[in-house]
Amino acid sequence: MKTVCKQDMCTGCMACADKCPKQAVSVKDDLTHFNAVIDESRCVQCGLCERVCQQVHPVQKVQPLAWYEGWANDSSIREKASSGGIATAVMFAFVREGGVVCSCTFTGGTFCYALAETEAEIRKFTGSKYVKSNPKGIYPQMLQKLKDGKKVLFVGLPCQAAAAKRFAGEQYEAQLYTADLICHGSPSPALLETYLQQHGKSLQQMQEIGFRQSTAYRLTENGKPLTNPRLTDRYAYSFLKSLNLTENCYACPYADAERAADLTLGDSWGTQLNDEKSKGVSLILCQTEKGKALLEAADLHLTPADAQRAVETNHQLKAPSQKPACREQFFALYGQGVPYDKIMAKCYPKVFLKQRVKALLLKLKLLH
Ligand SMILES: Cc1cc2nc3c(=O)[nH]c(=O)nc-3n(C[C@H](O)[C@H](O)[C@H](O)COP(=O)(O)OP(=O)(O)OC[C@H]3O[C@@H](n4cnc5c(N)ncnc54)[C@H](O)[C@@H]3O)c2cc1C
Repeated sequence: MKTVCKQDMCTGCMACADKCPKQAVSVKDDLTHFNAVIDESRCVQCGLCERVCQQVHPVQKVQPLAWYEGWANDSSIREKASSGGIATAVMFAFVREGGVVCSCTFTGGTFCYALAETEAEIRKFTGSKYVKSNPKGIYPQMLQKLKDGKKVLFVGLPCQAAAAKRFAGEQYEAQLYTADLICHGSPSPALLETYLQQHGKSLQQMQEIGFRQSTAYRLTENGKPLTNPRLTDRYAYSFLKSLNLTENCYACPYADAERAADLTLGDSWGTQLNDEKSKGVSLILCQTEKGKALLEAADLHLTPADAQRAVETNHQLKAPSQKPACREQFFALYGQGVPYDKIMAKCYPKVFLKQRVKALLLKLKLLH
């Protein structure tokens, strides 16, 4: 098998598949890892796939110019957003000034990318989706907008934002703005689909899916938790434990306080703004003048953040997620068709014994 980047280390950013003029590259999802596979019968050796691949080349990172924490002043944005709603507020301001935004949306059962040019279109982006999203098709659309003279803001996972920069090239550097998320790592959406099917749902049938209610991590449909709201669902737990991420995420070069995008957005886990915590407080790293312009244009409440505290309380700014010892067991049992909930109970027996006891107490109304 000939692959664009090192075998099993593909991020699934899809830039190579979008760049190939012969449609010779396809990205294969093997659950534990992704691979960008080259069909040698179609390949004309032009080298474009390798040139655009952000895994093949050293990442260009810079120190942030400033660290902030804050939130969107518009409470309707903040309520719907995953942390402080900074991403949505920045995207709103960008389209108001005539720009185009590329970001991730849940549509037709898939976590794909779309363009947005109005505030109404931006609303479909709000909220974290704790899966590997699929940007296939967005890069040529983004490039066309840049060629048309538009400013474009790309908001996504760090590998995807870096891919957008490589795809656009230096020629469009001034017009392309990027905001990446502090990223813990991302699993194949096929795992989520299995989990949902085992709970009587399917991505195809869902109009809306949420992964988080304020600071609580749980799957929701139209705002309603899919499992007991007092317990952590096992999909959320597998994500939080970094159990189900793809192989490349454990060696992610973007998990660093030096960043590749103009802006970096995450959760301000170390915030001391205690009255604001439950409403969502974002951490914002601003790397460039373009990043500054994005923040200045948006309607935000910002205060300087203590960089040292931010790094201490957000592991992803120091190093990639670590592979848990039971990851192999997780995927082996998954491969044997063992239900997701049972696998998690086998991987974390003590935690799930406690959850079972809690569930029983809740049922017996001995716990409220
Ligand atoms: C897989 C994943 C892992 C994360 N891990 C961490 C972490 O370890 N530490 C931390 O501090 N923060 C992490 N975050 C970021 C955090 O969850 C929030 O997304 C971030 O703080 C922005 O919040 P907000 O309220 O400003 O965004 P919102 O206003 O809610 O907007 C969210 C933006 O992110 C985009 N987005 C959401 N999910 C995806 C996706 N899967 N792929 C591409 N774009 C997406 C949306 O399209 C939207 O533009 C992670 C996010 C994801 C998706």
